[in-house]
Amino acid sequence: MRRINHYTDDSKAFLHSIGNALHGENKTTYLAMENDLYIKYDEYEGNLQTLERLSPLWPQRTPENNAQGTCAHDMYSREKKDISNLWESLKNANGGKTIKCPLCGVRDVTDLDHYAPRSIFPEYSVHPKNLIPTCHECNTVKDNVWLTKGGHRIVFNSYFDNPLSILVLLNSEIKIDQRDMPYVALGVNVPDVRPKGYGIMIRTLHKLDLIPLYWEQVNNEFQTEFIKLSAHINDPLTKQVFPTLEVCWQARKHEYNACLANEEAVGEVNVLLYHALVNSPEFDGWIRKKF
Ligand SMILES: [Zn+2]
Repeated sequence: MRRINHYTDDSKAFLHSIGNALHGENKTTYLAMENDLYIKYDEYEGNLQTLERLSPLWPQRTPENNAQGTCAHDMYSREKKDISNLWESLKNANGGKTIKCPLCGVRDVTDLDHYAPRSIFPEYSVHPKNLIPTCHECNTVKDNVWLTKGGHRIVFNSYFDNPLSILVLLNSEIKIDQRDMPYVALGVNVPDVRPKGYGIMIRTLHKLDLIPLYWEQVNNEFQTEFIKLSAHINDPLTKQVFPTLEVCWQARKHEYNACLANEEAVGEVNVLLYHALVNSPEFDGWIRKKF
């Protein structure tokens, strides 16, 4: 999970441009509620770090407010052009053509997730800071979850929450299976003192089913790394440079450690992999035995 830059243009101006482009009855409905929406937009801006405090504009749908709620909800699907402009601005704000999903860190973004769900908060259906780019899978699995029974947000907010290192949440170690083959095992850390932000990140891992995804990805990467490692160790040139396997293996570990110093750039999967490679006594023994 990582933090990304949000689209910084004036949110109310964006709402106004979309509302103003509506026609007929929808436009009349929009204009009648524009001020209420502005008030709600101020509430959003005032609670960027405490979004769980938001209260829906229409906690109950009634025959009187149903037209407004529906109009606000549908603004997102109606004005595709403005939304695709928003996509461009988001990409620009995050320095590239493709953004990796800030939730899983594995797949490319394709969707805009309504962070405060549209089903509960139709008033934020086109609020730029409520539209977070995600991959399709994370967006689908997140669906319209919002708060726990205790009032805590369930899913990490990539614009406003501070991510913890994946190593605070998960531990990774290389184990040897019954066929004498190495694999990476993942486990959830349960620290005695939970650092700030631990809860929401663990809830996100579970809600989005990221642990099995990481497990699969880390083991795929491990196979690739292992082939490279074997080739490296067996390479005649390597043998000339490093007098013993021990020295060669320590040099590799040094490289993995150097990569771990820049977690953001390396990504969750490689962080878990490199951490396992440098911290698994069982694998150290296995390497010495095999080579
Ligand atoms: Zn994702």
